[in-house]
Amino acid sequence: MKQRLTILGSTGSIGTNTLDVVARHPDRYEVFALSAATQVDLMLAQCAQFRPHYAVMASAPHAELLAEKIKQNSLPTQVLKAPDALDVIASHEQVDAVMAAIVGAAGLAPCLAAARAGKRLLLANKEALVVGGEVFMSAVREGGATLLPIDSEHSAIFQSLPEDPATWARRVQHVLLTASGGPFRMRDPATLRDVTPEQACAHPNFSMGRKISIDSATMMNKALEVIEARWLFDLAPDQIKVVIHPQQIIHSMVQFVDASIIAQLGTPDMRVPIACGLAWPERVESGAAPLDFVQLAALTFEEADAARFPGLHLSWQALRAAPGTTAVLNAANEVAVEAFLGQRIRFDQIHALNCATLAAVEPSNPDSLGALLELDARTRAVATQLMHGFVD
Ligand code: NAD
Ligand code: MG
Repeated sequence: MKQRLTILGSTGSIGTNTLDVVARHPDRYEVFALSAATQVDLMLAQCAQFRPHYAVMASAPHAELLAEKIKQNSLPTQVLKAPDALDVIASHEQVDAVMAAIVGAAGLAPCLAAARAGKRLLLANKEALVVGGEVFMSAVREGGATLLPIDSEHSAIFQSLPEDPATWARRVQHVLLTASGGPFRMRDPATLRDVTPEQACAHPNFSMGRKISIDSATMMNKALEVIEARWLFDLAPDQIKVVIHPQQIIHSMVQFVDASIIAQLGTPDMRVPIACGLAWPERVESGAAPLDFVQLAALTFEEADAARFPGLHLSWQALRAAPGTTAVLNAANEVAVEAFLGQRIRFDQIHALNCATLAAVEPSNPDSLGALLELDARTRAVATQLMHGFVD
C-alpha cells in the first residue's frame, strides 16, 4: 500500500524538497493534497506532476485563479480555499501522513487537526509546536498520532535517542542542539543595526524561506528549536544546550548519563530528515550527497555569544515563565521579522520588539486552540502598536 500524503506549504523550501523525495519513490508515496499561500503557477506545475485530489490556496482570489488554470489544463484536482480546507486535507480519512511545512502560527490549526485525526505528522512547522505546547502534545496523545520531527536538529536527536521513549528520562542527561551561527557569526555586533534583509537572508549553508532565514541570522530559530525540543522529547529547559557548529555536519547530539554522546551526521540537505520522516523506521534514498570524511577539513565548535545573539536566551526564559509565554514570544517574533523584511524596523530592533512585547502581554494560560489563537492575535496587536513607537 502506498502512503497517501498531504503536504501543507508545498510551494515552500520544505514543501518542494518533500516533493523531490516523493518523486524518487512513486512506488511508496502518493500525493493526496497540496496547499500553498499565493504561488499559483508553481502550484499548477505541482498539480500537473503529482495529480493530487485537492489543492488548497490561502485566499479566494488565488484559489479562483488556480481553479481556472486547472480547468484549462484538464487536470483532475479540485481547488479549495483555506483556512477551513486546510483542516479538511490534514485530517481526511484517506490521508496517512501530513507534512506540516507552512511557516508560522498559521500552521497550528491544521497540525492539530492532523494530530486529532491520528495521522503520521511530519513536523517542519516548528512555530506550531512553539505556540501549541501542551495543547499540541495532548492532541497528539489523544488522537494517537505519530509525531516525527523534520527540523534537522530534532530529527538528529530523534535518531540518536533509544527507540523506547519510556527510557529517555532515566538515560538522557541532556541534548545538544547545533547551530550554524548564521550569516553574522563573525560580524561586529555593533554593526548589526545596519544589516539589510538581503544580507540577513544569505544563509551560509541552506536556501530556506525568508522567515526562517531571518530567524537563523538572529538565532531566534535556535530559540524556537529549544522550545520545540522541550515538547518533542519531554525535556526540562536546562537539559537543552546549544553549541555553534558552522559546518553543519553534526546535526545535533544526545548526551547520556554515562557521558556517552550519540550524534547524527550528514551533508546539510533537508531531504535527509524529510526522507527519514517519510520512511521511518525504514530508510529510503533521499537524493542527498553522502558525506566524504576525507574531504572534510575540520569540524569546529564555538559558544553562542550572548551579545551577538541576545534572542537565543529568550527561549529558556519563556519556558520557565507562565504557560503561554512561548506563544507570546513566537507571535512577537513573527511581527518583528515581517516588519524587518518590510524595512519598517532595523535588524537589532527585532530583539528589542520581542522583549518589549514579552513585557507587555499577559499570557493567560491558553488551554485550547481558540485560546491560543486569541493570545496570538492579541500579542500581534500589541507588538504592532509597540513597533510604531520604534519608528523614528
Ligand atoms: P517557505 O516560506 O519557503 O514556505 C512556506 C510555505 O507555507 C509556502 O508553501 C507558503 O505558500 C505557505 N504559507 C505561508 N503562509 C501561509 C499561510 N498563512 N497559510 C497557508 N499557507 C501558507 O518556508 P520554509 O523554509 O519551507 O519553512 C517552512 C517551515 O519549516 C517553517 O516553520 C520553518 O521554520 C520550518 N523549517 C524549514 C527549514 C528549511 O530548511 N527551509 C528547516 C527546518 C525547519
Ligand atoms: Mg533546524
